[in-house]
Amino acid sequence: MREIKLLGRVFIQGDIVARTGLHIGSGSAGVEIGGIDNTVVRDPLTQAPYIPGSALRGKMRFLAERLAGVEQNQAMGPNVYIHACTDAKQYSQCEICPIYGLPSEFEFSGPTRLNVRDVFLDVDSLIDARTEFPYTEIKWEATIDRISSAAVPRVMERVPAGARFKDFEMVYSIYEYQSEDTEEDGKADLDRLFKVFEAMQLLSDEHLGGLGARGSGCIQFENLGVAFRPSTSYGRMSKPITYSDYTNSLESLLEQSDAIYSWLAEQLGW
Ligand SMILES: [Zn+2]
Repeated sequence: MREIKLLGRVFIQGDIVARTGLHIGSGSAGVEIGGIDNTVVRDPLTQAPYIPGSALRGKMRFLAERLAGVEQNQAMGPNVYIHACTDAKQYSQCEICPIYGLPSEFEFSGPTRLNVRDVFLDVDSLIDARTEFPYTEIKWEATIDRISSAAVPRVMERVPAGARFKDFEMVYSIYEYQSEDTEEDGKADLDRLFKVFEAMQLLSDEHLGGLGARGSGCIQFENLGVAFRPSTSYGRMSKPITYSDYTNSLESLLEQSDAIYSWLAEQLGW
């Protein structure tokens, strides 16, 4: 037996501003573009750099795993491990897997609660920036060859500080979920939502993308807002209901956690 019922969706929206240069690699290692061996990911349509939702969500998961101190037991690639619950009891109490999902289909796994969309660059935010390439600067890095101890110059591409990625959207679903091992009425999912806020805070104290230890990838959330769409309104109501209080900064969002909880509980008819 497995029953999953959607109760509603919470939308966390806002902008992401690069406080230092941002390097989210295109993953095309070895491909040289204009002499740069480490290029940033770009939207194939507009050629503007963007933040893939998977990069944002992956980093939030990583930081949340570190905070919770959970075992990173699932290999995702060479030297890349993530945490993955191995049974239903662990999953129902986990702060990570229900939110960010499990890498493969485990029988006890419920739906992944958090969906993070790609975030696109507001090109106007870089209108006055003098950059070597469209919307990106190049940064010279000296890496030390471990064998010869010689300094090896590397050229990195970064989106410059001040770049604004507008209208990000994280969609968090609240489910009633029943299986042979688990029974959740949706309240557990509402509690878990605040782990997402926590991960956003962890991210703003850390970095996004590459070269973080060298100062890149410092980001700030701005113009934040929260909205909710109850499942009963699908097909009848075009826009989600917006949480009315001011939640511009991450600090104010966190300060209003309790009020947001009560507001959502009320929307859910609890
Ligand atoms: Zn887990």
